[in-house]
Amino acid sequence: MTKTIRGSCLCGGIRFEIVGKVGPAGQCHCSKCRKVSGTDGNAVFYAPAAGFRWLAGEELIERFTVPDGKGWASHFCRRCGSPTPLGDANGKFFFVPAGLLDDDPGFRGYTAHIFAASKAPWVCIADSAPQYEAGFDSARIDGA
Ligand SMILES: [Zn+2]
Ligand SMILES: [Zn+2]
Repeated sequence: MTKTIRGSCLCGGIRFEIVGKVGPAGQCHCSKCRKVSGTDGNAVFYAPAAGFRWLAGEELIERFTVPDGKGWASHFCRRCGSPTPLGDANGKFFFVPAGLLDDDPGFRGYTAHIFAASKAPWVCIADSAPQYEAGFDSARIDGA
């Protein structure tokens, strides 16, 4: 039987489900993800678009494009402010904020920390996942 996991925003207006294997999750420490989450970054994982389905509330999704952010935009629920899943430009994946999940995705911890070079000064990365200066294709900065 194929595993299905569900997720939702804070108000429950936006709901989705993912069929099949998901994750693992990475933690992005960039300044934009910090602003969007109000915390130390953004725990996010990829889900194949073929297994992703909106169940409700797609019309509640609002978009904010960061001025001079090279197209970077946040997507969130207009009613409660939760960040929402976002499809990639090629329609292959969805980027899913891990905190939205209502079910156990199966993975544990992070696979990687990205944009670790721009993490907040008060953040101490305490796990052993590899740390990348910027995106996954950038230099590792954890000495490994
Ligand atoms: Zn909501
Ligand atoms: Zn980020």
